[in-house]
Amino acid sequence: MITLSTPVRFLKGVGEARAQVLETKGILTIEDLLYYLPFRYEDRTCLRGPGELQPGEMATVIAPVLRTEMLSLRRRSLKIFHAEVGEGRHRLHGKWFNSPYLQRIIRPGQYLALHGKVEEDAYEGGLQMVQPQYEILPNLPDHLFDSGNSLEVGRIVPIYEAAGGGRLTSRFFRRVIHSVLESLGGMEDPLPSVVAQQIGLIPRWEAIRNIHFPPPGTRLAGLDQARSPAHLRLIFEEFFLLETGLTLKRKKAREMPGIAFRTDSRIREFLKKVLPFHPTTAQKKALAEIVEDMRAPRPMHRLLQGDVGSGKTIVALQAAVIAIENGYQVAVMSPTEILATQHCFYFRRLLGRSGYNVVLLSGSATPREKRAIKKLLREGAAQVAIGTHALVVEDVEFKALGLVITDEQHRFGVMQRRRLMQKGRTPDTLVMTATPIPRTLALTLYGDLDVSVIDELPPGRLPIITRQIPVEADSEAYEFVRSQVALGAQAFVVCSVIEDSEELEDPKSALQTHELLSKQIFPEFRVGLLHGRLTAEQKEKIMQAFQAGKIQILVGTTVIEVGVDVPNATVMVIVQAERFGLAQLHQLRGRVGRGRRQSHCLLLTSRQQTEVAQQRLAALERTNNGFEIAELDLRLRGPGEFMGVRQSGLPTFRVANLLRDREILEHARRLALDFFEAGDRQELARLVRYIKENWNRRYGLVAVG
Ligand code: ADP
Ligand code: MG
Repeated sequence: MITLSTPVRFLKGVGEARAQVLETKGILTIEDLLYYLPFRYEDRTCLRGPGELQPGEMATVIAPVLRTEMLSLRRRSLKIFHAEVGEGRHRLHGKWFNSPYLQRIIRPGQYLALHGKVEEDAYEGGLQMVQPQYEILPNLPDHLFDSGNSLEVGRIVPIYEAAGGGRLTSRFFRRVIHSVLESLGGMEDPLPSVVAQQIGLIPRWEAIRNIHFPPPGTRLAGLDQARSPAHLRLIFEEFFLLETGLTLKRKKAREMPGIAFRTDSRIREFLKKVLPFHPTTAQKKALAEIVEDMRAPRPMHRLLQGDVGSGKTIVALQAAVIAIENGYQVAVMSPTEILATQHCFYFRRLLGRSGYNVVLLSGSATPREKRAIKKLLREGAAQVAIGTHALVVEDVEFKALGLVITDEQHRFGVMQRRRLMQKGRTPDTLVMTATPIPRTLALTLYGDLDVSVIDELPPGRLPIITRQIPVEADSEAYEFVRSQVALGAQAFVVCSVIEDSEELEDPKSALQTHELLSKQIFPEFRVGLLHGRLTAEQKEKIMQAFQAGKIQILVGTTVIEVGVDVPNATVMVIVQAERFGLAQLHQLRGRVGRGRRQSHCLLLTSRQQTEVAQQRLAALERTNNGFEIAELDLRLRGPGEFMGVRQSGLPTFRVANLLRDREILEHARRLALDFFEAGDRQELARLVRYIKENWNRRYGLVAVG
C-alpha cells in the first residue's frame, strides 16, 4: 500500500539510484512526484505523418525511422546526427548538432515522436526539424494508435523535464506517475468543500489525474497556459493553503504578550511638537495604525511602505518617540552607513532638544568608541541606537529594547530582523521599505506583517521631468546642469561603475566622469566624488558637504541610491542609464524632487539598447508612480528576480506562479481570510491540521507555530 508520504524509492522501477536523481528535483515522496508537472503537452490524438506538415509550423510527428547517419561538416568539429523518418514518399529529417550519442539511441525501425519547428531542408530536399525534442516510442501494434491504452500515443501526452542529465526521461515520469495514480485510487482533499463549490473547482484527485493525463477533448492551449480546470484548481489550492497558513501565523504572533505602550495627552502633545511640518493625510493614517498596534498588549509586526520621498522617516521617528516616552529604547537598522548616518542626523536634529541620547553604531567606529556606545545602551543612558547590521553582529545589549525599526529596501533578510528583535523581550517591529510592491504581493511576501501604505507625497512636490539624452549629446545634459547649479540648485551624476577598465573617449565611470566634470566642464563649481571604495568616514564627510551645499555637483556610483535626502538637489543625471534596473533607476531618481523646485532626471543612453532596456527607460519617462513602475518591473523581470523576492523566505510554488497567477492569488487570499473568519469550525480545524502537517516540509522555512 502506498500513500502520499511513501518515499519514492519504494516504488517499483525506481530504487536507490533513481531515487537519488529524483531527489535532485526535490522529489522525495509520492506526493512530490505527483506535483512534478508536465511543462508542456503534445496532442497525439490525431497522428500526423510527415506528409501533412507545412513549413513554418510547430508540430509533433510520429513515424518510423528509416535510416540514421553521422554527418561531418567541413569544419570537423561540427558533427550532425541525422535521422530520416517517414512512410511512403513523405520524409522528414531530424537533425541534432554535437550529439553523437544519439547514434546509440535512435535506430532504424523504431517509432519516433519528434516535436519541433518544421522547415524546408535546403540540403536534402523535403522537410526537416533542427534539434527537435524526440521520444522513442515502444513498438506499437497498429491497433494501439486508437485504443487509448498507450501512454505515448492516441492521447494528449504529458511532456516532463528529464532528470539526471537525461537518465530519467519524460517517458519514465509518465510511467511511474501513471502507475502511482493507478495504485493510489484517491487522495485527501484539503480544500473546504464550500470553497471549492463556491468557485466551481474540481476535486483535487481529479485535478492531479487530469493534469498528468488530460482527458480527451481538453484544450491544448489551456493546458500549456496553465489554465485548464486542473491547473486552476491546483494553483488555487496552493495559494489558499499558503494564505491560510499566513493568517494562522499572523494570529499566533499576535497572541504573544508584548508591550502595551501608553499614549497619554502629554505624549500626543509632544508628538506634534516634534513635527517640523504638517503631516500628510497618508502619514497621519499610517501613524494612527502604528499607534494602535503599539498600544495593544501584543507585539507589532508592521510594514510601512511608501514610495521614495513619501516621508516614512518622520513616521518612524514618531513611533520612536512613543517608545522612548514609555521608558523604552529604540533600535534603527539601516542597509548602509550613509543612510544610518543620515537617520542619525535626522533623529538628532528633531529629538536633540528633548534631551534624548541618539547613538550611531557604525562598523567603522573604533573599538573604543564601540565599547562606549555599547555601555550607554546596556545601561539605558542612550535611548536610540542607529546603525547598520553592526547592530546585530556586535554584542550590543539593551537595557529595555521596545521598538525595532528596520529600513529594509530588501537588504536584510528575515533572519537579521529577527536577531535584532531577540535583543529585547518581544519588542514592536516596524519595517520600512521604499520598494513599491503591488499590494497583494506585499501581503504575501511579508506574510506575517500588517501593511501600512503612504501613498501620497508631501504637498508642493512637482513630478520629476524625466527624459533620455543620447550619450553623444551629453554636453546638452551638462549645460542643463550648469544652468540649474547657477541658480543655486545642486545635482547628482550617477555612474554604473567606479573605474573604467580602459581609456575611453567619453568616460563612463565615476572616477573618470568626476575628472572630466571637475577639470574641464565645471571648473567654476565644486564637484565631489562618492563611491564604495571610500572609507565610511570619507563618505560621511562628502555627504555632509553635499548636504550643506559646499559641494554643488556630486558624482557617484549607486551608493547614493539609498535614502540620501537633499531637498536642494534638483538634477539627477544617470550615465549609461540602460545598464540599471528599473527599480534602481526609480530609487535613484527619487533623490531629487524632494523640495518645491521643479526637478529633472536626465538619462544618458547609448543608441544600442535591448528592447527591455528601452521599455524600462520609456516607463521612467512616462510615469513617476512607483507602483506603476513596480508592476512593469514585475512583468519585465518575472517574479523570481523581482526585488529580492528570493531572499524573502517565500516558498517556491509547485504549480502556482506569482506573476502569472496574481489574480488567483488575490481571489484565494480573500476566500482564505473569509473562511478563517466565518467558515465552518470543524472544517477549519481540519484545514489547519492539514497545513500544520504539510507546511514545514512543503514550504521549508516558513514554519507555523
Ligand atoms: P522616504 O519615505 O523616502 O524615507 P523621507 O522620510 O526621507 O522620505 O522624506 C523625504 C523628504 O520629505 C524629507 O526632506 C522630509 O523632511 C520631507 N517631508 C516628509 N514629510 C513631509 C511633509 N508632510 N511635509 C513636508 N515635507 C515632508
Ligand atoms: Mg527614507
